[in-house]
Amino acid sequence: MDYKERVSQEIHSNAACIKGLARQIGEHPELGFAEYKSSALLAQTLEGAGYEIEKPLAGLETAFRATLGEGKPNIALLCEYDALPGIGHGCGHNLIGAASVGAALGLARVIWEIGGQVTVIGAPGEETGGGKTILVQEGVFQGVDGAMMFHPSSENLLMSTTNALDAYEFVFTGRTAHAAGSPEQGINALDGVIQLFNGINALREHLKDTVRIHGIITEGGQAANIVPDRAVAQFYIRAPHRSELDMVTSKIFDAARGAALMTGSQVSWRKFEHSNDNMIPNQVMASVFGANLRALGVTDIEEFQEGKGSSDMGNVSHVVPAIHPYLSIGNDLVGHTTEFAEAALTEDAFQTALLAAEALAHTAIDLLTDPALLGAVKSEYERL
Ligand SMILES: [Zn+2]
Repeated sequence: MDYKERVSQEIHSNAACIKGLARQIGEHPELGFAEYKSSALLAQTLEGAGYEIEKPLAGLETAFRATLGEGKPNIALLCEYDALPGIGHGCGHNLIGAASVGAALGLARVIWEIGGQVTVIGAPGEETGGGKTILVQEGVFQGVDGAMMFHPSSENLLMSTTNALDAYEFVFTGRTAHAAGSPEQGINALDGVIQLFNGINALREHLKDTVRIHGIITEGGQAANIVPDRAVAQFYIRAPHRSELDMVTSKIFDAARGAALMTGSQVSWRKFEHSNDNMIPNQVMASVFGANLRALGVTDIEEFQEGKGSSDMGNVSHVVPAIHPYLSIGNDLVGHTTEFAEAALTEDAFQTALLAAEALAHTAIDLLTDPALLGAVKSEYERL
């Protein structure tokens, strides 16, 4: 029996455990950076299979690193396990953690024979705070030769770009006054926010269709008869590449300065969440994953799409070769909905997690055993 067959056999014999992880995490959704039970479940399962566990990791209580084997190459499998406020696992991250741990259980059977290392990285807070951004900054991916994970979807897709994202909060400050008795004494901070929205809306005409800017007002005054002295807006700003995003954000800063000037208010801004870089999928790695999927019987596979969303996996793809393929858990599903959360808890979804575990593990085998292939993966990454 070859390595891939033995790894698959190990994954199948652990199927109940892998599905159990997906079910338990799915039924008990935990928000980003508070995934205490979910991260513990995944880390304990890996510890039981002989992995050495480091937890907490990079100052994050719900992040972990699990390693098995020694030397090079070092292939990383990423786990996500955070849920969305109000709708639970509407992005199906319960399946991501289960699939990567499933792949790791399979690889545990052969890694000492093959040589090299398997590293499982538990990455919290993808939805709300960019846990992988922190892990990248803290050097967690140093020494990793390739990183991968799967993401549930309504289709099978090998490669998708994602947008780079900056999250900015703008705070306008003015001066209170009686809004009817002495409005001339006031400086209206809310007008500053409104002019910022107007400035951004005027800017849209001169931006590419691929740019996304969407915001909310989080503070807009205390009472209608008081001129607001403080108003706050938060925006997500996205573009396909970091350089384009920097150009767009600099124009938005100008709009903010202009809004303050027009209204006599003061403005300051800060990032309220970590920035995401755009995802650069490694084409060589993705094609190996695709070949393994086909060998496992999957036929309807799309190669490439340009994505509109953002992910902190983008940051990972800037420091190591990385893939983030999608596998279907049901047709016509829309991400970040209760329907998606329900679909992520079905037998079909659990079967997709098992399929993902096998395809990830087989891809890791290819990278661990074929130095020429790993060389091609790295030279593609280095050309970027
Ligand atoms: Zn997601």
